[in-house]
Amino acid sequence: MDEALTSKSILVAFDLDDTLYKEQDFIQNGYGITLDRFTLNTLQSLKEQGYRIAIITDGEAKVQREKIKALGLDEFADTLDIIISQEIGTEKTDKQNFTYFIDKFPEYKKFYYIGDNTAKDFFWPNKLGWTTICIADDGRNKHKQNFGLQNDYLPDIIVDNIYDILEFIEE
Ligand SMILES: [Mg+2]
Repeated sequence: MDEALTSKSILVAFDLDDTLYKEQDFIQNGYGITLDRFTLNTLQSLKEQGYRIAIITDGEAKVQREKIKALGLDEFADTLDIIISQEIGTEKTDKQNFTYFIDKFPEYKKFYYIGDNTAKDFFWPNKLGWTTICIADDGRNKHKQNFGLQNDYLPDIIVDNIYDILEFIEE
């Protein structure tokens, strides 16, 4: 990604499954999955505004790479900005998935993580001082969300639609 296009020194990292697309769609359509217009518009808006976009996901590396390609996400996240935990020998819940980006961009002022799974997604980014945002389950998610967990696991912000994150991501 051209440095001039990521002028804000802010990273917005996304989970993949049930965050950028619905896993249920993959089960039904396989690699026929697409980004819905809200997700596409959100990513386009972040890119146009100069934010650096990343994906931090678990799952089988080959399958996740194929999903990313099928969704056209290569357009938004260059390959170095995709962390698939299996490829670097970590689990989704490992600190290293997040410190990777802090080490890579030491000059960055702010980091965001957008996810859906309260059991796994927000613990480490919370601990590391990232702003965490959860996209509320619309009833189709694989993992049920539990907002009764201890604070370390809870997102800073909950939104109903991915598009709503734009009002919370700022310099
Ligand atoms: Mg997920």
